[in-house]
Amino acid sequence: AKNAGRNGYAIYEPGMGEAQRRRQRIEAELAGALDRGELALHYQPRLDLAQGRIVSYEALLRWSHREDGSISPADFIPVAEETGLIVPIGAFVLREACAAAARLFPETGMSVNVSPRQFRDPEFLETVLDALEASGLPPDRLELEITESVLVDDDRRAIAILETLERAGVRIALDDFGTGYSSLSYLTRFPFDTIKIDRSFIRGMEDDDSAWHIVESVLRLSEGLGVRVVAEGVETPDQLLRLMQRGCDEVQGYLIAAPAGADVAARTIPEAVRT
Ligand code: C2E
Ligand code: CA
Ligand code: CA
Ligand code: CA
Repeated sequence: AKNAGRNGYAIYEPGMGEAQRRRQRIEAELAGALDRGELALHYQPRLDLAQGRIVSYEALLRWSHREDGSISPADFIPVAEETGLIVPIGAFVLREACAAAARLFPETGMSVNVSPRQFRDPEFLETVLDALEASGLPPDRLELEITESVLVDDDRRAIAILETLERAGVRIALDDFGTGYSSLSYLTRFPFDTIKIDRSFIRGMEDDDSAWHIVESVLRLSEGLGVRVVAEGVETPDQLLRLMQRGCDEVQGYLIAAPAGADVAARTIPEAVRT
């Protein structure tokens, strides 16, 4: 039954009604989540294949609701984006991630996801610079992950902000690469430091020739552009091997380590590094 909800009792309910109620509940509860201390960051390492060591972490937001338990970012980030709550929540993420990087992850980079709405906020630049100053984190250890949709909306203003950030020393990554429809052109609009190949291509790599060809061509292209390539969602040794053979710079995924709380993430030495 297509409409069976996650609890299994909604079989005879119209699917839309269930989804809408869930969305409304998220919207109502998200407003207070920050103040109730329900939001926290997890960190997932990025392994540099040439050096065989962890060179940075990605901060990933987690929400543990007091009654509903853990709610996925895939469910609440879009709501935060639509309501504008992503602005205060995003500021919290920047402060927390920079503070953790300065305190707990010496010598490594820290990547923070920035959504389009957050990026367009007039105070975005100041929020980033404040987080750096408050934490004492050197700007070149912070990387902001944006998607190409940031460049679609207001190209010139977006590029001006990215250039200001780069001049300040902050790094810029293009996230979810390959999922948009004109991705390659974005690489010529702004000199990204890093591109992250979307997990869907990595997942498809072994069985789907076209996914593998896309991964290969991104790796070849990036060599010419001098941009670092990170493969997202690496789950199998075979994926790791293929990426290594084609000169992929860094990998991130469950094979290396799942996202974890700061203390655990800082202490974990991934399997792939030990061997
Ligand atoms: P993303 O930026 O593409 O983040 C990577 C997602 O892939 C994370 O999901 C991570 O937990 C998951 N992942 C990592 N390795 C693997 C793997 O090997 N296999 C699989 N299947 N998944 C893997 P998560 O944490 O649920 O976040 C989902 C999305 O929510 C993120 O996608 C990002 O777009 C957004 N998000 C998360 N935290 C933040 C945040 O602080 N700010 C903003 N604006 N967006 C965030
Ligand atoms: Ca990301
Ligand atoms: Ca991604
Ligand atoms: Ca390379």
